[in-house]
Amino acid sequence: MMTCHDNALDEALKSLGLIRFDPPAPKPGGLVHVFQILGELSHARLADIAEEYAAPGGVDFGFAEHREFNAFAQRSSKDVICIYSSTVRTMWSLCNAVMTIREIFPWIDDVDRLGENSAPPAKGELFFVQQTSAASGEIEPIRRKLATALFDVAMDFALMHEVGHLWNGHVDLLRQEIDPLPLREMRPGEAKGFDLAEAQALEFDADSFAAQKVFARAYRENQFKEFSEGLLKDHRLPLDGDHTATWYFTWFAIYAFFRLFDEACAAADLQKRPQPRAALRQACLLSTVAAVCDRQGWSKLTMPNWEVLATAAGLEAEGAICRLRRVALDANAFRSAWQGPAFDQIEAYLQSWDVLAPRLKLFKRGAMQAKSEPSSVTDA
Ligand SMILES: [Zn+2]
Repeated sequence: MMTCHDNALDEALKSLGLIRFDPPAPKPGGLVHVFQILGELSHARLADIAEEYAAPGGVDFGFAEHREFNAFAQRSSKDVICIYSSTVRTMWSLCNAVMTIREIFPWIDDVDRLGENSAPPAKGELFFVQQTSAASGEIEPIRRKLATALFDVAMDFALMHEVGHLWNGHVDLLRQEIDPLPLREMRPGEAKGFDLAEAQALEFDADSFAAQKVFARAYRENQFKEFSEGLLKDHRLPLDGDHTATWYFTWFAIYAFFRLFDEACAAADLQKRPQPRAALRQACLLSTVAAVCDRQGWSKLTMPNWEVLATAAGLEAEGAICRLRRVALDANAFRSAWQGPAFDQIEAYLQSWDVLAPRLKLFKRGAMQAKSEPSSVTDA
């Protein structure tokens, strides 16, 4: 399926000195590489979200071989979206690694859910070690399923964030005014006259776009419904029909994605970056998500309910990552982002927006003609 490459992505890659990463071929025994699955899902998702993308060759999507947790969007003869290979590898590894932490998700292993034979020691026997056989290190299928679902949401957010940059005119604006190179998440417009406050407002706009799309799909597909019973055994969360677990894990996945991006930016020693750190970035999205879910009738949760859900999920993701990295969890730092800075940050975005909006107007496209979503979702 990958034999015929479009030129638009290759041109964009060349302009950044990058090379394309092609998913490895399947192996005997029905083993398909995660990049191939993600590539196919992403093409299908793009075709589903806009008629322009459903047309043959309507959008060019692919991967770049690179060690950065990065992605870019570009517009030439068509829309181009590229995710760097490291983003996929790191996200996939994290989602699976999190599942090895028994203390984080004890409820998944309930015997009633798995049956006596496939279940690990029941709750309460977590720390009893079986002396006869060494731990196999294998992850139970239900954990693998949850890992896959979390990864899917995180990568969907990444994809929709890039669509947001394209659909809301950011890419065209920056191409025309600042830098003809693709709009990259890390190092945007590096060495060019890039206004950081404006770049921050664009990132927030792309995040809001992505959050609306991701929660629209979460409402429709309710991907985490089967984990509800177990989740609610160990967590006191505001209930929202049968969507509680899906809302919770959607926030979890988005937070984990933000957090890995932070890590990559720190590792690259980036001085200026247009995205706030994970907790604040998540907090800034709360009002968008609460508003769209209320407006579309997807949820009965109040704003304080949403905050409880989102902070519980974000903190659990933060705790899991800290544990895997063997660093202490700083819950206060996480919580402090939710107590004022989010409002200041949104205020700053809105100020930049006054300057940006008239310039973006030329490039902003109309409502998406999507097959599966009400078009009003994009009108926010
Ligand atoms: Zn972005």
